[in-house]
Amino acid sequence: MVKIIDIHCHLTFDEYDSDREQVIEDSRQVLKAVVTSGVEPEDGKDALELAELHRDFVFVSLGLHPIHVVDMTDHEIGDYQEFISTNRRNIVSIGEIGLDYHWVRDPLKIKRTKEIFVEFLELAKELDLPVVLHLRGTTGGEAIEAGLKLVSDNDIRKVVFHCFTGKPQLAELICKEGYYVSLPASIVRSKTMKKVAKRIPLSYLFTETDAPYLSPDNEEKRNVPQNVKVVYEEIARQKKSDVKTVEEAIEGNFGRVFGVELKSD
Ligand SMILES: [Zn+2]
Repeated sequence: MVKIIDIHCHLTFDEYDSDREQVIEDSRQVLKAVVTSGVEPEDGKDALELAELHRDFVFVSLGLHPIHVVDMTDHEIGDYQEFISTNRRNIVSIGEIGLDYHWVRDPLKIKRTKEIFVEFLELAKELDLPVVLHLRGTTGGEAIEAGLKLVSDNDIRKVVFHCFTGKPQLAELICKEGYYVSLPASIVRSKTMKKVAKRIPLSYLFTETDAPYLSPDNEEKRNVPQNVKVVYEEIARQKKSDVKTVEEAIEGNFGRVFGVELKSD
């Protein structure tokens, strides 16, 4: 029985323009569900259309990536938030949203991304949806720490730290708050991520690819959702457990956090 899940990727991106349907068909052989994440309004529409064609397999998260926040006016952002509310029934989470100190460095722009981030947190609360966070720093875990403070100050309950790159101690702090950490397929190349997989209880972990990015093979190669398999294998290895146990735990977490009960085969 196939039970693996990719909670975060971008099936709408240009990298799949030539063979998108084939990629989805191939991923169906290995996966039970995949969540594609809209990063801005146009992309969000594309994601909803794609999910419509692949019901009960492709699920949608809608958010505004911090790198897109700085290109948009208040009015445009307001319209997009309205659009998200209207599509409440067709989405499973709000994200990715957050902070990106790697691409956004100007203090005024950082301030703006923070304000809009908080607006989306409030929207998630209002719609009773979990949030999926993109928190990228320049050197260490500063964006993750800032994000953690904002979600806990705003009393957000269901939170997933997507593509977690921080230290194991920071992952432990996150779990203490009752939040979740999601590990990507690039875990095969990261000692720190392996340590996180070892230290964090299965009941606080998620698995993702962030495809087309973060291929397990190398940075340049296009990634695909079925590569999430390596995350399951690595978690099982680190926990000296088996893949089946990991599959059951992640599926349980998916149901609890995203509110999706997957049909059994
Ligand atoms: Zn992403």
